[in-house]
Amino acid sequence: MTTITQLLERGFSLSVEMWPPRSTEAEVRLQDSLERISDLNPTFASITYGAAGSTRERTHDLVVLINHEHVMTPMAHLVCAAHSRAELVQILERYRSAGIENILALRGDQPLRSTEALADGELKHAIELVDLAKEVGDFCVAVAAHPEGHPNATDLATDRRYLAEKLQRADFAVTQFFFRAEDYLGLVDDLKNLGNTKPIIPGIMPITNVKTVSRMAELSGTQLPDEVVKRIVAVADDPDAVRRVGVDIATELCAELIESGIPGLHFYTMNQVSATLEICANLGLGPLV
Ligand SMILES: Cc1cc2nc3c(=O)[nH]c(=O)nc-3n(C[C@H](O)[C@H](O)[C@H](O)COP(=O)(O)OP(=O)(O)OC[C@H]3O[C@@H](n4cnc5c(N)ncnc54)[C@H](O)[C@@H]3O)c2cc1C
Repeated sequence: MTTITQLLERGFSLSVEMWPPRSTEAEVRLQDSLERISDLNPTFASITYGAAGSTRERTHDLVVLINHEHVMTPMAHLVCAAHSRAELVQILERYRSAGIENILALRGDQPLRSTEALADGELKHAIELVDLAKEVGDFCVAVAAHPEGHPNATDLATDRRYLAEKLQRADFAVTQFFFRAEDYLGLVDDLKNLGNTKPIIPGIMPITNVKTVSRMAELSGTQLPDEVVKRIVAVADDPDAVRRVGVDIATELCAELIESGIPGLHFYTMNQVSATLEICANLGLGPLV
Protein backbone atom coordinates (compact mmCIF):
# COMPACT_ATOMS: atom_id res chain seq x y z
CA MET A 1 0.00 0.00 0.00
CA THR A 2 1.06 3.56 -0.63
CA THR A 3 0.55 6.70 1.41
CA ILE A 4 -0.25 10.01 -0.24
CA THR A 5 3.11 11.34 1.00
CA GLN A 6 4.83 8.62 -1.04
CA LEU A 7 2.66 9.48 -4.06
CA LEU A 8 3.53 13.18 -3.73
CA GLU A 9 7.22 12.30 -3.76
CA ARG A 10 6.73 10.71 -7.20
CA GLY A 11 5.69 13.98 -8.85
CA PHE A 12 2.83 16.34 -9.67
CA SER A 13 -0.41 15.31 -7.98
CA LEU A 14 -4.00 15.73 -9.22
CA SER A 15 -6.69 15.15 -6.63
CA VAL A 16 -10.42 15.61 -6.20
CA GLU A 17 -12.77 16.19 -3.30
CA MET A 18 -16.08 14.30 -3.29
CA TRP A 19 -18.83 14.01 -0.75
CA PRO A 20 -20.75 10.88 0.25
CA PRO A 21 -24.13 10.67 -1.54
CA ARG A 22 -27.38 11.11 0.40
CA SER A 23 -29.74 9.36 -2.02
CA THR A 24 -29.78 6.58 -4.59
CA GLU A 25 -29.88 9.18 -7.38
CA ALA A 26 -26.89 11.01 -5.92
CA GLU A 27 -25.08 7.69 -5.65
CA VAL A 28 -25.61 6.98 -9.35
CA ARG A 29 -24.30 10.46 -10.21
CA LEU A 30 -21.27 9.93 -7.96
CA GLN A 31 -20.46 6.57 -9.59
CA ASP A 32 -20.58 8.27 -12.99
CA SER A 33 -18.27 11.05 -11.72
CA LEU A 34 -15.83 8.52 -10.26
CA GLU A 35 -15.67 6.63 -13.54
CA ARG A 36 -15.18 9.79 -15.59
CA ILE A 37 -12.53 11.22 -13.27
CA SER A 38 -10.59 7.95 -13.22
CA ASP A 39 -9.57 8.75 -16.85
CA LEU A 40 -7.42 11.49 -15.31
CA ASN A 41 -5.72 8.92 -13.12
CA PRO A 42 -6.01 11.12 -10.00
CA THR A 43 -3.41 10.71 -7.30
CA PHE A 44 -6.07 10.69 -4.58
CA ALA A 45 -9.72 11.39 -3.84
CA SER A 46 -10.63 13.01 -0.53
CA ILE A 47 -14.05 12.30 0.96
CA THR A 48 -15.76 14.91 3.11
CA TYR A 49 -17.16 14.42 6.62
CA GLY A 50 -20.43 16.04 7.68
CA ALA A 51 -20.32 18.58 10.46
CA ALA A 52 -21.60 17.03 13.71
CA GLY A 53 -20.72 13.56 12.41
CA SER A 54 -23.75 13.37 10.12
CA THR A 55 -21.90 11.32 7.46
CA ARG A 56 -19.96 9.03 9.79
CA GLU A 57 -21.12 5.80 8.08
CA ARG A 58 -21.46 7.22 4.56
CA THR A 59 -17.94 8.72 4.58
CA HIS A 60 -16.53 5.44 5.87
CA ASP A 61 -18.38 3.38 3.25
CA LEU A 62 -17.34 5.58 0.31
CA VAL A 63 -13.70 5.68 1.42
CA VAL A 64 -13.61 1.87 1.71
CA LEU A 65 -15.43 1.45 -1.63
CA ILE A 66 -12.94 3.69 -3.45
CA ASN A 67 -10.10 1.81 -1.82
CA HIS A 68 -11.45 -1.51 -3.10
CA GLU A 69 -12.81 -0.60 -6.49
CA HIS A 70 -11.07 2.40 -7.92
CA VAL A 71 -7.61 3.17 -9.09
CA MET A 72 -7.28 6.20 -6.84
CA THR A 73 -6.16 6.32 -3.24
CA PRO A 74 -8.85 7.59 -0.84
CA MET A 75 -8.30 10.11 1.95
CA ALA A 76 -10.94 10.18 4.70
CA HIS A 77 -11.85 13.58 6.18
CA LEU A 78 -12.43 13.44 9.92
CA VAL A 79 -13.77 16.24 12.10
CA CYS A 80 -12.76 16.33 15.75
CA ALA A 81 -15.48 18.81 16.81
CA ALA A 82 -18.10 16.18 15.98
CA HIS A 83 -16.94 13.45 18.36
CA SER A 84 -15.55 12.53 21.74
CA ARG A 85 -11.97 11.28 21.88
CA ALA A 86 -13.23 7.70 22.37
CA GLU A 87 -15.40 7.92 19.23
CA LEU A 88 -12.52 9.34 17.21
CA VAL A 89 -10.31 6.44 18.32
CA GLN A 90 -13.02 3.96 17.21
CA ILE A 91 -13.38 5.64 13.81
CA LEU A 92 -9.60 5.68 13.27
CA GLU A 93 -9.21 2.04 14.35
CA ARG A 94 -11.99 1.01 11.97
CA TYR A 95 -10.22 2.77 9.09
CA ARG A 96 -6.96 1.07 10.01
CA SER A 97 -8.61 -2.36 10.00
CA ALA A 98 -10.09 -1.59 6.57
CA GLY A 99 -6.63 -0.81 5.20
CA ILE A 100 -7.16 2.97 4.93
CA GLU A 101 -3.95 4.91 5.39
CA ASN A 102 -4.75 8.57 4.72
CA ILE A 103 -6.72 10.95 6.93
CA LEU A 104 -7.46 14.67 6.59
CA ALA A 105 -7.56 15.88 10.21
CA LEU A 106 -10.00 18.77 10.65
CA ARG A 107 -11.62 20.65 13.47
CA GLY A 108 -14.94 21.17 11.68
CA ASP A 109 -17.31 24.09 11.91
CA GLN A 110 -20.38 23.21 13.88
CA PRO A 111 -19.40 21.47 17.09
CA LEU A 112 -22.16 19.65 18.91
CA ARG A 113 -20.95 21.22 22.10
CA SER A 114 -19.07 24.39 22.94
CA THR A 115 -15.31 23.98 22.58
CA GLU A 116 -14.94 26.16 25.68
CA ALA A 117 -16.65 23.53 27.82
CA LEU A 118 -14.73 20.45 26.69
CA ALA A 119 -13.81 17.91 29.32
CA ASP A 120 -10.15 17.03 29.85
CA GLY A 121 -8.81 14.90 27.04
CA GLU A 122 -11.41 16.01 24.45
CA LEU A 123 -10.11 17.51 21.23
CA LYS A 124 -10.41 21.22 20.61
CA HIS A 125 -8.22 21.84 17.55
CA ALA A 126 -7.22 19.90 14.45
CA ILE A 127 -3.62 19.61 15.65
CA GLU A 128 -4.79 17.28 18.43
CA LEU A 129 -6.48 15.03 15.85
CA VAL A 130 -3.21 14.92 13.90
CA ASP A 131 -1.49 13.56 17.01
CA LEU A 132 -4.33 11.12 17.72
CA ALA A 133 -4.32 9.74 14.14
CA LYS A 134 -0.55 9.23 14.31
CA GLU A 135 -0.86 7.54 17.68
CA VAL A 136 -3.80 5.24 16.84
CA GLY A 137 -2.80 4.09 13.38
CA ASP A 138 0.37 5.79 12.16
CA PHE A 139 -1.75 7.32 9.40
CA CYS A 140 -0.47 9.65 6.71
CA VAL A 141 -2.19 12.83 7.94
CA ALA A 142 -3.11 15.93 5.95
CA VAL A 143 -4.40 19.20 7.40
CA ALA A 144 -6.42 22.16 6.16
CA ALA A 145 -4.73 25.49 5.40
CA HIS A 146 -6.50 28.80 4.84
CA PRO A 147 -4.57 31.08 2.43
CA GLU A 148 -6.52 34.20 3.47
CA GLY A 149 -6.43 33.19 7.12
CA HIS A 150 -9.08 31.22 9.02
CA PRO A 151 -12.26 33.34 9.21
CA ASN A 152 -12.35 33.14 13.04
CA ALA A 153 -8.65 33.84 13.60
CA THR A 154 -7.78 36.84 15.75
CA ASP A 155 -5.07 37.88 13.27
CA LEU A 156 -3.22 36.39 10.31
CA ALA A 157 0.19 36.08 12.02
CA THR A 158 -1.28 34.05 14.91
CA ASP A 159 -3.27 31.87 12.50
CA ARG A 160 -0.09 31.19 10.50
CA ARG A 161 1.81 30.20 13.66
CA TYR A 162 -0.90 27.69 14.65
CA LEU A 163 -0.93 26.35 11.10
CA ALA A 164 2.87 25.98 10.98
CA GLU A 165 2.80 24.03 14.22
CA LYS A 166 -0.04 21.78 12.95
CA LEU A 167 1.72 21.16 9.63
CA GLN A 168 4.96 20.31 11.37
CA ARG A 169 3.17 17.36 13.02
CA ALA A 170 1.26 16.37 9.86
CA ASP A 171 2.46 15.20 6.43
CA PHE A 172 1.01 17.75 4.01
CA ALA A 173 -1.68 20.41 3.69
CA VAL A 174 -4.55 21.08 1.32
CA THR A 175 -5.79 24.67 1.11
CA GLN A 176 -9.22 26.18 1.24
CA PHE A 177 -10.21 27.43 -2.23
CA PHE A 178 -9.09 30.91 -3.31
CA PHE A 179 -9.11 33.02 -6.48
CA ARG A 180 -5.82 34.98 -6.31
CA ALA A 181 -2.54 33.14 -6.77
CA GLU A 182 -0.86 35.65 -4.45
CA ASP A 183 -2.98 34.46 -1.51
CA TYR A 184 -1.61 30.92 -1.93
CA LEU A 185 1.94 32.13 -2.58
CA GLY A 186 1.77 34.38 0.51
CA LEU A 187 0.71 31.40 2.62
CA VAL A 188 3.55 29.25 1.27
CA ASP A 189 6.10 32.03 1.93
CA ASP A 190 4.84 32.71 5.44
CA LEU A 191 4.99 29.02 6.33
CA LYS A 192 8.44 28.64 4.80
CA ASN A 193 9.60 31.51 7.01
CA LEU A 194 8.16 29.59 9.97
CA GLY A 195 10.22 26.51 9.01
CA ASN A 196 7.74 24.51 6.90
CA THR A 197 9.11 21.96 4.45
CA LYS A 198 5.90 19.97 3.85
CA PRO A 199 3.88 20.10 0.60
CA ILE A 200 0.94 22.56 0.49
CA ILE A 201 -1.52 21.60 -2.25
CA PRO A 202 -3.68 24.47 -3.56
CA GLY A 203 -7.45 23.83 -3.50
CA ILE A 204 -9.34 24.97 -6.62
CA MET A 205 -13.08 25.57 -6.80
CA PRO A 206 -14.30 26.02 -10.37
CA ILE A 207 -17.25 28.45 -10.44
CA THR A 208 -20.17 26.62 -12.03
CA ASN A 209 -23.02 28.35 -10.24
CA VAL A 210 -23.05 31.92 -8.89
CA LYS A 211 -25.21 31.27 -5.82
CA THR A 212 -23.29 28.19 -4.67
CA VAL A 213 -19.87 29.77 -4.94
CA SER A 214 -20.99 32.99 -3.22
CA ARG A 215 -22.39 31.01 -0.29
CA MET A 216 -19.29 28.83 0.01
CA ALA A 217 -16.97 31.83 -0.24
CA GLU A 218 -18.89 33.54 2.57
CA LEU A 219 -18.77 30.45 4.78
CA SER A 220 -15.06 29.85 4.26
CA GLY A 221 -13.93 33.48 4.44
CA THR A 222 -12.69 33.40 0.83
CA GLN A 223 -12.84 36.71 -1.02
CA LEU A 224 -14.38 36.86 -4.47
CA PRO A 225 -12.13 39.43 -6.16
CA ASP A 226 -13.84 42.27 -8.15
CA GLU A 227 -12.28 41.02 -11.38
CA VAL A 228 -13.82 37.55 -10.89
CA VAL A 229 -17.20 39.00 -9.89
CA LYS A 230 -17.22 41.30 -12.97
CA ARG A 231 -16.54 38.44 -15.37
CA ILE A 232 -19.24 36.27 -13.83
CA VAL A 233 -21.83 39.02 -13.44
CA ALA A 234 -21.41 39.91 -17.14
CA VAL A 235 -22.85 36.47 -18.07
CA ALA A 236 -25.00 35.84 -14.99
CA ASP A 237 -28.20 35.30 -17.03
CA ASP A 238 -26.72 32.41 -18.99
CA PRO A 239 -25.82 29.34 -16.86
CA ASP A 240 -23.71 27.78 -19.67
CA ALA A 241 -21.71 30.98 -20.05
CA VAL A 242 -21.19 31.19 -16.24
CA ARG A 243 -19.75 27.69 -16.32
CA ARG A 244 -17.52 28.52 -19.31
CA VAL A 245 -16.19 31.68 -17.67
CA GLY A 246 -15.76 29.77 -14.38
CA VAL A 247 -13.64 27.16 -16.17
CA ASP A 248 -11.57 29.94 -17.83
CA ILE A 249 -10.99 31.69 -14.48
CA ALA A 250 -9.88 28.43 -12.82
CA THR A 251 -7.67 27.50 -15.79
CA GLU A 252 -5.89 30.87 -15.60
CA LEU A 253 -5.39 30.53 -11.84
CA CYS A 254 -4.03 26.97 -12.17
CA ALA A 255 -1.68 28.01 -14.99
CA GLU A 256 -0.27 30.82 -12.80
CA LEU A 257 0.15 28.43 -9.87
CA ILE A 258 1.86 25.77 -12.01
CA GLU A 259 4.23 28.44 -13.32
CA SER A 260 5.21 29.32 -9.75
CA GLY A 261 5.87 25.67 -8.82
CA ILE A 262 3.27 23.67 -6.87
CA PRO A 263 3.16 20.05 -5.66
CA GLY A 264 -0.22 19.44 -7.33
CA LEU A 265 -3.79 20.65 -7.74
CA HIS A 266 -6.76 19.66 -5.59
CA PHE A 267 -10.22 20.22 -7.09
CA TYR A 268 -13.39 20.83 -5.09
CA THR A 269 -15.67 18.97 -7.51
CA MET A 270 -18.92 18.92 -5.52
CA ASN A 271 -19.37 15.50 -7.17
CA GLN A 272 -19.55 17.07 -10.66
CA VAL A 273 -16.34 16.47 -12.51
CA SER A 274 -16.98 18.03 -15.95
CA ALA A 275 -15.42 21.39 -15.03
CA THR A 276 -12.39 19.70 -13.45
CA LEU A 277 -11.88 17.56 -16.56
CA GLU A 278 -12.12 20.64 -18.80
CA ILE A 279 -9.63 22.62 -16.70
CA CYS A 280 -7.15 19.74 -16.74
CA ALA A 281 -7.57 19.34 -20.49
CA ASN A 282 -6.99 23.11 -20.96
CA LEU A 283 -3.80 22.78 -18.91
CA GLY A 284 -2.62 19.74 -20.86
CA LEU A 285 -2.85 17.64 -17.68
CA GLY A 286 -5.38 15.08 -18.76
CA PRO A 287 -7.40 13.49 -21.53
CA LEU A 288 -9.37 15.85 -23.78
CA VAL A 289 -13.08 15.93 -22.94
C1 LIG B 1 -9.19 21.11 2.50
C2 LIG B 1 -10.35 21.33 3.44
C3 LIG B 1 -11.26 20.29 3.65
C4 LIG B 1 -12.30 20.45 4.56
N1 LIG B 1 -13.20 19.42 4.75
C5 LIG B 1 -14.18 19.53 5.67
C6 LIG B 1 -15.07 18.44 5.95
O1 LIG B 1 -14.99 17.38 5.31
N2 LIG B 1 -16.01 18.61 6.92
C7 LIG B 1 -16.12 19.77 7.65
O2 LIG B 1 -16.99 19.85 8.53
N3 LIG B 1 -15.28 20.82 7.42
C8 LIG B 1 -14.34 20.73 6.45
N4 LIG B 1 -13.47 21.79 6.22
C9 LIG B 1 -13.68 23.05 6.95
C10 LIG B 1 -12.92 23.09 8.28
O3 LIG B 1 -13.44 22.15 9.17
C11 LIG B 1 -13.09 24.51 8.81
O4 LIG B 1 -12.35 25.41 8.02
C12 LIG B 1 -12.81 24.72 10.29
O5 LIG B 1 -13.35 25.97 10.68
C13 LIG B 1 -11.33 24.78 10.66
O6 LIG B 1 -10.77 23.59 10.52
P1 LIG B 1 -9.19 23.41 10.76
O7 LIG B 1 -8.99 21.96 10.63
O8 LIG B 1 -8.39 24.34 9.91
O9 LIG B 1 -9.08 23.86 12.31
P2 LIG B 1 -7.89 24.26 13.28
O10 LIG B 1 -6.57 23.94 12.73
O11 LIG B 1 -8.23 23.71 14.60
O12 LIG B 1 -8.04 25.85 13.30
C14 LIG B 1 -9.29 26.46 13.60
C15 LIG B 1 -9.07 27.84 14.24
O13 LIG B 1 -8.44 27.67 15.52
C16 LIG B 1 -7.20 28.40 15.56
N5 LIG B 1 -6.26 27.56 16.33
C17 LIG B 1 -5.59 26.47 15.89
N6 LIG B 1 -4.85 25.93 16.89
C18 LIG B 1 -5.08 26.69 17.99
C19 LIG B 1 -4.63 26.64 19.36
N7 LIG B 1 -3.79 25.71 19.77
N8 LIG B 1 -5.10 27.61 20.21
C20 LIG B 1 -5.95 28.57 19.79
N9 LIG B 1 -6.41 28.67 18.51
C21 LIG B 1 -5.99 27.75 17.64
C22 LIG B 1 -6.79 28.61 14.13
O14 LIG B 1 -5.98 29.78 13.99
C23 LIG B 1 -8.13 28.76 13.43
O15 LIG B 1 -8.61 30.07 13.58
C24 LIG B 1 -12.44 21.68 5.28
C25 LIG B 1 -11.52 22.73 5.05
C26 LIG B 1 -10.49 22.55 4.15
C27 LIG B 1 -9.51 23.68 3.92
